[in-house]
Amino acid sequence: MNILVTNDDGIYSPGLAALASAAREFGTVRVVAPDVEQSSMGHAITHSRPLSYRATPSLPFEAFRVNGTPADCVALGCHLWGDVEVVLSGVNLGLNLGNSAWHSGTLAAAKQAALLGVRGIAFSTSTTLESEPDFVALAPFVHQVLAFLLEPPRLELVNVNLPVRPKGMLWTRQSVRYYDGRVVPIQDPRGRPLYWSTVVSLEASEEGTDRWAVEHDLISMTPLRLDLTDHTGLEHATRTRPVPT
Ligand code: MN
Repeated sequence: MNILVTNDDGIYSPGLAALASAAREFGTVRVVAPDVEQSSMGHAITHSRPLSYRATPSLPFEAFRVNGTPADCVALGCHLWGDVEVVLSGVNLGLNLGNSAWHSGTLAAAKQAALLGVRGIAFSTSTTLESEPDFVALAPFVHQVLAFLLEPPRLELVNVNLPVRPKGMLWTRQSVRYYDGRVVPIQDPRGRPLYWSTVVSLEASEEGTDRWAVEHDLISMTPLRLDLTDHTGLEHATRTRPVPT
C-alpha cells in the first residue's frame, strides 16, 4: 500500500515524523509536505504561480518539501506518485475539533485526497504553551488508529483527534453548536490597533461529539463527507416551495 504523508505544520514538524513512522508499518511511505508552516490555511490551492518540490534527505523517509499549501502537496504528491491508496495528514500540533474543520490545513489535505478519489485521514493532538505533544507516548495510539481505520469499511474521509493520554476510541460527530473563532484587539508599541485572529476555549460540549470525546480522554474519529448540501433544508424547501416548472 502506497501511503502519502503530509501536514500543515511543515515538513520538519515532529508530528509528521511520528505519523510517517507509524505509517511505515502499513505500507510504503512517501512524505510530501509544505516547506514552511501552513496552519489555518484551510483548503487553499496555489494557482497564480507554479509549484516545485525538493528532496529532503535529512529525514529518515523518502521526503519532498513543496512551496505550497497542504492541499497543493496532496495534489502534487498524487500526481507524481500515481497509485496513492491513502493520504495521512498530521499529526497536527493542536486539536482540530468542531468548526475548526473549516480552517484546518491538516484536514484540508485529507479533503484534497478525498476530492481526488483517494482516502484521507487527518490526525491532530493537543498542544499547550508549556509543552509540545509527547509523540513517543502517543505512538502506540497512532498505530492503533491506523490499524483500525485502514481496515474495512475504509471510510473515505476521517478526522482523528488524540487527547494527551487516550483511554479509548470513539466514533463521533462534528461539534457545530459553537464557533470559537474570535478577533482579539491588541496594540502595537506605539499604541496603534492590531488584531489577532484566535480561538477562545469553550466550556460546554455535546455528548457524542469530537470535542466531548477528547474532553473525556477518548480518541475522536469523525467520518466526514465532501457533500456540503443541507439535505434536510433541500427536502423542506422542495416540499414547501417547489421550483416553478
Ligand atoms: Mn498546524
